[in-house]
Amino acid sequence: MPSARDPLADLRRIAYLLERAHEKTYRVRAFRGAAAKLAKLPEGELAARAKAGTLTELAGVGDVTARCVAESLAGEEPVYLRRLEATAGQDLDEATAALLRSLRGDCHTHSDWSDGGSPIDEMAMAAAQLGHEYLVLTDHSPRLTVARGLSAERLEEQLDVVAGINAGFAGLGMEFRILTGIEVDILADGSLDQTDELLGRLDVVVGSVHSNLKDEPEVMTRRMVTALANPHLDILGHCTGRLITGGRGTRAESRFDPAAVFGAAVEHDKAIEINSRPERLDPPKRLLRVALEAGCRFAIDTDAHAPGQLDWLPNGCSRAVACGVPVERIVNTLPAKDLLAWAASHE
Ligand SMILES: [Zn+2]
Ligand SMILES: [Zn+2]
Repeated sequence: MPSARDPLADLRRIAYLLERAHEKTYRVRAFRGAAAKLAKLPEGELAARAKAGTLTELAGVGDVTARCVAESLAGEEPVYLRRLEATAGQDLDEATAALLRSLRGDCHTHSDWSDGGSPIDEMAMAAAQLGHEYLVLTDHSPRLTVARGLSAERLEEQLDVVAGINAGFAGLGMEFRILTGIEVDILADGSLDQTDELLGRLDVVVGSVHSNLKDEPEVMTRRMVTALANPHLDILGHCTGRLITGGRGTRAESRFDPAAVFGAAVEHDKAIEINSRPERLDPPKRLLRVALEAGCRFAIDTDAHAPGQLDWLPNGCSRAVACGVPVERIVNTLPAKDLLAWAASHE
């Protein structure tokens, strides 16, 4: 009997919903890994094995996955998926939903080239399915070795890969495209951790502090102001570095002079990121209001490390709404060409 459902699509949907719910990576991998493995089976073997009950003999395919595949092949929505879908609904208030609809893309995301969990094309497809017009790919820079930061050579290589994927989208007549970028480390002296030549070639540059987070306020302020004055930097990522919950534990905010930092952002027409990751939610609303008063632009980003996390924008939107950030101050409400023109104006 031919199935009305695609079991692999169901497994990927489960992974997506688990990512969105910020579930542990190993749980998500079980489904993404199984989907990738099963996709490679010869024609007919999936159904044959499901029927014979031998799917679990394949490495990486467990009981739960096998049950989902069997249900899917029988034409039913897998019970596991149905439960996830039932709890996945997000009741957004009207203002948050309206702001979310006005966002055209995401300016801070990672792939498995650095510390993300999925390939670039899967991140891109998920973004396109969310209705984004663009996704800025911002893998880490060399010094962040724990996150497998990209050397200049690997970043060059990535630019070619992105060009190839974009050519594929264009070939399908899709308007969606990946914009090139980086989440570049802001080093101790405020300089950026990648060559000027490469930074100049990227569409959008997010700069973040990932080291010496406990620098004295004067030091941290000088560091961030120097970075904001750098013509390559477009967006200041998760400015306090705080962690408020989650597996990595909590971390206090870095201390800096908000008037000086946000003033520098306004002076150089750079954006302050509103980071949507549940464990970050950075900056805190207190500082978000100061940045708003100062006249800053903002970018509402997910900092997604997996496809399902691209769905975290509502977190940032609700905070922007709560603080009264007007839509015209948010750079990722701009169409791609205007976003690119804004970023290029810094060079
Ligand atoms: Zn970061
Ligand atoms: Zn990041």
